[in-house]
Amino acid sequence: MQAVLTIDLGAIAANWAMLRDRAAPGLVAAAVKADGYGLGAAPVGRALLAAGCRHFFVADLAEGMALRAVLGPGPMIAVLSGFAPGGDEDAALVPVLNGLADLTAHAAAGRRRPVILHVDTGMSRLGLPPTEFELLAAEPGRLGPLQLLYVMTHLAAADEPAHPANAVQAARFAAARARLPGVPTSFANSAGLFLGADFASDLSRPGCALYGINPTPGAANPMRQVVTLSAPILQVREIPAGETVGYGAAWQAARPSRIATVAAGYADGYLRALSGRAVGILAGRPVPLVGRVSMDLITFDVTDVPACRPGEMIQLLGPGNTPDEVAARAGTIGYEILTSLGARYRRDYLGT
Ligand SMILES: *Cc1c(COP(=O)(O)O)cnc(C)c1O
Repeated sequence: MQAVLTIDLGAIAANWAMLRDRAAPGLVAAAVKADGYGLGAAPVGRALLAAGCRHFFVADLAEGMALRAVLGPGPMIAVLSGFAPGGDEDAALVPVLNGLADLTAHAAAGRRRPVILHVDTGMSRLGLPPTEFELLAAEPGRLGPLQLLYVMTHLAAADEPAHPANAVQAARFAAARARLPGVPTSFANSAGLFLGADFASDLSRPGCALYGINPTPGAANPMRQVVTLSAPILQVREIPAGETVGYGAAWQAARPSRIATVAAGYADGYLRALSGRAVGILAGRPVPLVGRVSMDLITFDVTDVPACRPGEMIQLLGPGNTPDEVAARAGTIGYEILTSLGARYRRDYLGT
């Protein structure tokens, strides 16, 4: 008996197509870093390629090389954290240049190669800081033979539309792009695609929305749900009022109760912070998680569900229990729920 993670590649493709239509005439890439947000960069990448996506962003070199082997030579694969020039990857991947030092190293290699220039407009994480950008804008010859595919920046607070950082970053990016006339631009992440015309660009870079996370927090989720996670009941037991369940004896039955023990735990990415806070769905009904999440097991109060047996599946993620909803209960974000999904689940891909 094993937990089953179902990943709907058709829903991912439909989500990408929705964003593509929204962003037109700009193009839409896909952020598939961290193994496709935990869902499998290879199957996700193949599905997006089949849907028409031709631009992919990964976090590091290893992710980029692995994705290139899956997708073949056609699509652009850009590496957000960049890489040093001179290796085999040079021809296969596009480095994102995050500072003048990166730029100088690639220019000095002397090859006419495509690069993406990342300008920091308020994230203070990666990208050319304003002083470095000034040096480059004043002396574009520093690019040497490099071919600027895009100038990009990354939004810090796109999921909070009213946050003043958004307008600040849009203004700074507009100023930067004016200094590099004719260079195509890359701006919005998922939430940025819902912020309006000031955030449009030639290549948007959504990630989370492709995987069903709401890019418009506070409003209805316009994306299709992608993941369902169901785990089997291993045992069902009756306990008297007053008995406790799990580590720390943290939950005590207020009435005679029926407890179902289920095969998933924090080692599977079912976060321990969900202890006492989550719900499962059994036979269409919500059942509360009781006691602490342990490494391999969780426990649900199924007293109100008649006749449940070992082998039945409790839904841990899915409609009515979305990654965003589970994240809220754990005090985190849907991204962390997805990227934590464990290796022990059987993975079923729909739509292949
Ligand atoms: C992760 C990432 C994205 C995608 O962000 P989402 O919020 O998942 O849409 C886009 N650009 C950069 C630079 C990123 O690191």
